[in-house]
Amino acid sequence: MTKQLTRREFIKRNALTGLASGLPLSLIANHASQPAILGGQPAWNKGSWPIWPQWNPETDEKELLSVIRSGIWSRATAVTEFEKRWANAVGTQRCLALVNGTNALVTALAQFNIQAGDEVIVPPYTFIATVTAVLSNGALPVFVDVDPETFQIDPAKIEAKITPRTKAIIPVHILGLPADMAPIMAIAKKHNLIVIEDACQAHLAEYQNKKVGSIGDAGCFSFQNSKNLAVGEGGAIVSNNNAFMDRCYSYTNFGNPYGTPVGSVSTGSTMQGTKLRWTEYQAAIGLAQLQRLDAQTTLRNENAAYLKSKIKDIPGIRPYRLYDHVTKAAFHLFPFRYDTQQFKGLSRADFLEALRAEDIPCSSGYTTLNTQPFLAETFKSKIYQNSYSRELLASHKEHNHCPQNDQLCKEAVWFTQNMLLASRNDMERIASAIEKIYQNAEKIKTRSKK
Ligand SMILES: *Cc1c(COP(=O)(O)O)cnc(C)c1O
Repeated sequence: MTKQLTRREFIKRNALTGLASGLPLSLIANHASQPAILGGQPAWNKGSWPIWPQWNPETDEKELLSVIRSGIWSRATAVTEFEKRWANAVGTQRCLALVNGTNALVTALAQFNIQAGDEVIVPPYTFIATVTAVLSNGALPVFVDVDPETFQIDPAKIEAKITPRTKAIIPVHILGLPADMAPIMAIAKKHNLIVIEDACQAHLAEYQNKKVGSIGDAGCFSFQNSKNLAVGEGGAIVSNNNAFMDRCYSYTNFGNPYGTPVGSVSTGSTMQGTKLRWTEYQAAIGLAQLQRLDAQTTLRNENAAYLKSKIKDIPGIRPYRLYDHVTKAAFHLFPFRYDTQQFKGLSRADFLEALRAEDIPCSSGYTTLNTQPFLAETFKSKIYQNSYSRELLASHKEHNHCPQNDQLCKEAVWFTQNMLLASRNDMERIASAIEKIYQNAEKIKTRSKK
């Protein structure tokens, strides 16, 4: 690495000053602008990107060690402290921490009484857990197509999908970019629907200066290892609805009434429950991560805006658009759409390969969730067969066709959030890598593959 850097510096300096380097100038320029996939220098070329998750022994280990040494590992004061801080950060009265984001969604749906026979509106452009949470409660996911410019559920398409069975909408702030909550809340109000925000990728994102997760009836978060607030595993439900939050708590603690201490063996359960409690050491890790989240979120917003400004004019690169009411995003991912045609027919797969050769990690993102076979498989079970008409289940795939999303899944390219924690100069390296690939698209397309 050091060797390459030195050589690059050398070439740059010589190219700038025009000093004789033993190579013709045209060759030097060619070498610097040659895509790595064709033998040039990688645009990144600096060793690893910012690592994720972050851990700082000096500031982070005191609290964790004291929890471990205390021997109190089941839910107690550290979990309560984390809940208080997270509710405060999001701007809700209540927060319940639990095992993961998936079960935050399962619990929230169950405690709004959503069950077999009900329909829940979801976007197709999301992580699979949004949909499995609906299925876990025996409800039917109904997919509403996306706005490809924003990657979010298209509010203009929601009402056409509402039926007498519709009970809830799950807007997902996917990629950490807020969904268009104002029209979604208006539709929900008009049709008397529950709104559960899937904010699992959108920690501290804001819409009209309100944190996402605090806008609907409830919000769900994930603290899985890759997420912007990383604990390994973890999740939270936030809400201002006290009765609902009491029920959520009970559900995750065997149905014991809210406030029943952990470890109680009495059979005072008032409702059906399960066990989804978080541990003290997870809370201690969460409290450590929480201290950095605000500054990291600001940095991601700054770098994302800068990177967007640097690549938006490259033909065929269409970065995300934020809705006008978005006051801050979380940028769990940095997304753009890639247009093969503008890149001389260079396929997205080849574009990604060329970017990776530049040492720029990237992904093609989600596949079409609404067409996956697990849906039809699930509908074969008794609970679906007994709760929905044969016609409804048989026509589900056809009625949930989402052409915009089909196209989006073919065009999307993602960068992960940790890359946005690098420097401004590093954003320029990403942009120059894309620029190089654009300039050499034809040559990359026709390169000989070994
Ligand atoms: C990560 C994620 C979940 C699930 O969270 P886990 O903690 O992994 O269970 C749900 N929805 C979305 C959009 C996610 O990204």
